[in-house]
Amino acid sequence: MAIVNENFLKLAPSYLFSDIAKKVAAYKEANPDKKIIRLGIGDVTQPLAPAVIEAMHKAVEEMASAETFRGYGPEQGYDFLQKAIIENDFKPRGIELGADEVFVNDGAKSDTGNIGDILDKGNIIGVTDPIYPVYIDSNVMAGRAGENIDGLWSNIVYMPCNGENDFTPALPTKKVDVVYLCYPNNPTGTVITREQLKKWVDYAIENDVLIMYDAAYEAYIQDETIPHSIYEIPGAKKVAIEFHSYSKTAGFTGARCGYTVVPKEVTAKKADGERVSLNKIWLRRQCTKFNGTSYITQRGAEAIYSEEGKKQIKATIAYYMENARIMKEAFAEMGVKTYGGENAPYIWVKAPKGMTSWEFFDALLKEANVVGTPGVGFGPAGEGYFRFTAFGQKEDCIEAMQRVKDWLMK
Ligand SMILES: *Cc1c(COP(=O)(O)O)cnc(C)c1O
Repeated sequence: MAIVNENFLKLAPSYLFSDIAKKVAAYKEANPDKKIIRLGIGDVTQPLAPAVIEAMHKAVEEMASAETFRGYGPEQGYDFLQKAIIENDFKPRGIELGADEVFVNDGAKSDTGNIGDILDKGNIIGVTDPIYPVYIDSNVMAGRAGENIDGLWSNIVYMPCNGENDFTPALPTKKVDVVYLCYPNNPTGTVITREQLKKWVDYAIENDVLIMYDAAYEAYIQDETIPHSIYEIPGAKKVAIEFHSYSKTAGFTGARCGYTVVPKEVTAKKADGERVSLNKIWLRRQCTKFNGTSYITQRGAEAIYSEEGKKQIKATIAYYMENARIMKEAFAEMGVKTYGGENAPYIWVKAPKGMTSWEFFDALLKEANVVGTPGVGFGPAGEGYFRFTAFGQKEDCIEAMQRVKDWLMK
């Protein structure tokens, strides 16, 4: 008899985006003549860069002939891509990494979810609130989260981020073993300064805490003082695993590629107190459960680091960041408080007039025919906030902001 993993039954279906879709569909049916602008979805809209397309076409041609055909590749990724990653994303920032510390993956969602495989069920997890749901849900599946009581998991330590603490989470006062940090942050679009990140690294070293650092949005950082990698902080290699993704960096949400850094120095304890390196264990896990990202995709990812590729992806990011600027400026004119949007493609808006997240959603849909994402959908501390994404068309952003202005300032 097969017995189900009941931890999965503890997870409520995620209703956020289906609830949004239902409300929008109902509104459309009642108002078929209204043009709705969507600024809610966390997916890119611009095509892959020409340099990436060219490299992928070339790789497809190689696959077409027996001499250059590639079958299974190394589970950790091809060395051409590992090398490009180390040379471009880390060396210029003074970070030395070995190729065997870089694990090419099929996107950061897989690895941020899977990394828990190599950790004991008894670990206490700390998360910022609001949060990217994968970190919590994957720990629920592993049986680490305890019970859900009024929307909060009993074994998870939450670190609220809100206007009062300027979205800088306080260090946990309760004991935690593993902390997930995401900067630049989804959903709030806020960043962490070098000094603040150093506090986290020092805390992790002192208290023997493992940091899972999600850097999926680092390419959006405009302010040169903001760290792109946690390894820019001395000592971080001992305590942090870092996740990168080409999804938002270079439009790979459909192509699927990213990488995870597991330094050799990062360790965890056995029950008897002996420390073991997590790098070897992660390699073992990947070699068993993952067979590599496709050759074609890895060639495409490599092209991001060419001179042309760099210029092209920078231009696309600048396009999105212009949308963010337009939205931020518009809200400032309306006297609506916003956060983020300067080093990330998300704007986190304080719902005006004391509205809840969903009240603002409903009013915005009805009065301006604009759709965004209610902040409370990302965690209890998101209540009263709202997320707009910059991943749209510029004309839509301009029109949406004009409509919101016409509504809120009438
Ligand atoms: C989009 C996103 C990712 C990347 O996901 P992929 O699986 O690489 O597409 C990772 N973390 C956060 C917080 C994200 O928003």
